[in-house]
Amino acid sequence: MSDDSRPKVLVLGAGFGGTGAARKLRKAPVDVVLVDRHDFHTFQPLLYQVATDVLDPATVGHPIRELVHQQENLDFAQATVSGIDLDARTVTFEDWEPQGYDYLVVGLGARANFFGTPGADEHAFPLYTLPQAVRLKQHLLRRFEEAAKHPALVEEGYLDVVIVGGGPTGVETAGALSELFHGVFPEDYPTIDTSALRITLVEHGDRLLSMFDQGISDYTRETLTERAVTVRLGELVAAIDADGVDLGSGERISAGTTVWGAGLQPVPLASELGVDLVHGRVPVDQFLRLERHPEVFVVGDMAITTDARSGEVLPQLGSVALQAGEHVGVTIDRLERNHKDPHPFHYVDKGTMATIGRKAAVAVIPPHHLTLTGRAAWAMWGAVHLALLTGGDSRMAAMTNWFWSFTTHDRPARVLIHPDDED
Ligand SMILES: Cc1cc2nc3c(=O)[nH]c(=O)nc-3n(C[C@H](O)[C@H](O)[C@H](O)COP(=O)(O)OP(=O)(O)OC[C@H]3O[C@@H](n4cnc5c(N)ncnc54)[C@H](O)[C@@H]3O)c2cc1C
Repeated sequence: MSDDSRPKVLVLGAGFGGTGAARKLRKAPVDVVLVDRHDFHTFQPLLYQVATDVLDPATVGHPIRELVHQQENLDFAQATVSGIDLDARTVTFEDWEPQGYDYLVVGLGARANFFGTPGADEHAFPLYTLPQAVRLKQHLLRRFEEAAKHPALVEEGYLDVVIVGGGPTGVETAGALSELFHGVFPEDYPTIDTSALRITLVEHGDRLLSMFDQGISDYTRETLTERAVTVRLGELVAAIDADGVDLGSGERISAGTTVWGAGLQPVPLASELGVDLVHGRVPVDQFLRLERHPEVFVVGDMAITTDARSGEVLPQLGSVALQAGEHVGVTIDRLERNHKDPHPFHYVDKGTMATIGRKAAVAVIPPHHLTLTGRAAWAMWGAVHLALLTGGDSRMAAMTNWFWSFTTHDRPARVLIHPDDED
């Protein structure tokens, strides 16, 4: 319930950062207004499972309004931010009246960076939002249905896929697509020679998953190769069109689908925060505030966040965004409820992991950098992602679908539903 005498905290973006901040303000003597252009929070780490028919979109997108049930001082508005005026302490929206604030928490995330690659904007499928994952899923299923009627299309690369970027998004998508194409679709599409389908992962650097050590990169490459993914290292995708990609070396790869997992750039609103961006991200102080506007906090992928103890710049990860958001919530609570000075932000690394597919994943667990690969890492990856998913219903749905996919080699979510289709 809103009270005009209490400070108003406006939280822009209901991602990991924004929801983390909003939740930690539960007991603070403030009114919190959380705003997002969608009415759901997206669990991005599992987007590739929506695109490859393992999970339903609703398992990965959780209703933001459920947070309102749990928190009396929280309200939500579905609206799209169009401008931020720091001096007037006002935020404007495309579809809502301007809102003032006492504290502003900005966590609007990032978006795909095509690095000016010709044709990418028009023809590549980025994988950063839930609508993008659904679009990729629909595109693939439509192509397979078309090719089932016209099998000759397969020879022209109609069903082949190029994935750009050998980071976690590219690796996880490549592994999941390989299982879909070679483990599930042979039974679904008996008229298609699925053994002829090509999945190519193109990485500009000289190894996959470069945030891990060389051993993990080698394991990842070998595992993907065993699973019929062609890994091309040291290659740049120079141009993309509807029928494939041109590599920097001049080689052409035919493919009806190009998935883009090669980099992020800030949302354009980052440039309205009155600071020079550093590597495209908003610099913040050790309390995650704008230097000249201590009432404004920036969290998550949008910010260049530094760990106060190690001085290291932290990666654009959900765990960093969540902890930063929570830290901001605690900071505002300390200022308003306890009238205490804030603490600098320190990130607790609970481990880094990526999955390559069935029974194959990689994980590095601090504090002694314990490295796991294979089944043990895969089991750990599943347990951690299940625990992190928002909402008991989503956890239950993910667990059921994973169990079903694992035991039957089936994909429970492989249906084509499009709102524009005729009844
Ligand atoms: C495919 C993929 C896999 C990943 N896997 C992992 C992983 O395994 N582990 C991990 O730790 N991290 C992972 N990440 C990274 C992690 O998801 C991000 O770092 C994290 O989501 C960033 O949180 P955020 O709150 O900054 O932004 P986001 O979660 O992107 O949230 C931003 C929110 O702002 C909203 N928004 C944007 N613009 C506007 C606007 N103009 N008006 C209103 N609302 C707006 C969006 O709708 C969104 O809800 C992955 C990312 C991707 C894309």
